[in-house]
Amino acid sequence: MKNPLILTKKKAHFLKENRQDPITGDSFQMGDEIVFCAECKSAFLKESWEYMGNTHCNQEKILRKIPKNRNLTLKKIVKIDYQLLSRRDIVVSWIIDTAIWFIIFMGVIHFFDKNYYPEEVYITIVIVALLLKDNNLITTSIGKKLRRISMIHIKTNKKVNPFLFPLRHIFSAILLLLFMYNSINSLKGFISIFCFICMLDLLISFEKSRRMIDYVLGIAMTKDKNNDK
Ligand SMILES: [Zn+2]
Repeated sequence: MKNPLILTKKKAHFLKENRQDPITGDSFQMGDEIVFCAECKSAFLKESWEYMGNTHCNQEKILRKIPKNRNLTLKKIVKIDYQLLSRRDIVVSWIIDTAIWFIIFMGVIHFFDKNYYPEEVYITIVIVALLLKDNNLITTSIGKKLRRISMIHIKTNKKVNPFLFPLRHIFSAILLLLFMYNSINSLKGFISIFCFICMLDLLISFEKSRRMIDYVLGIAMTKDKNNDK
């Protein structure tokens, strides 16, 4: 990314405008690193700009200087309906949905052990349940609903089709499949690779509100603003 502008004393006139970051809602402070969208002249914190995938108004250019007359450009500002998530939101919703899946997992293992079903049956069920972790309320999950998290397309602000959610758990599903496979010794290499990918994926999602697959799909988790009271 090109260099953000740093708010120094010289640029105090900008602070007097008392503008806020459209994503975090925070007022800009002395020392903040700020990026101006070259198209609409909106100001963003560097973090918010990166969060939007370094784009706004369908373009990536930023201004080198603080724009002088913002009133001329105000009406062109693209409205943003989403907010950054706190790590607490992400972690809590992840724990809730993972716990729900784990209860299903234990239930299935317990049930099928007693009744001598073929192994493939319960492996399939727990893996499908894992893939559908974000769909335990069909269009969302209990964890996401409780923390008011939704998935949106970064560029268009549109809600993501819930049928895409299973893709977000593809790495952990592969890991689980390898784990549950009979000849576990011959698969140790693959298991460690996917263990590593899953850990990395989880860390990135806690840190950036996005899983690796979210970057591919151009989507992100955001906090619903509508019922934010
Ligand atoms: Zn813009």
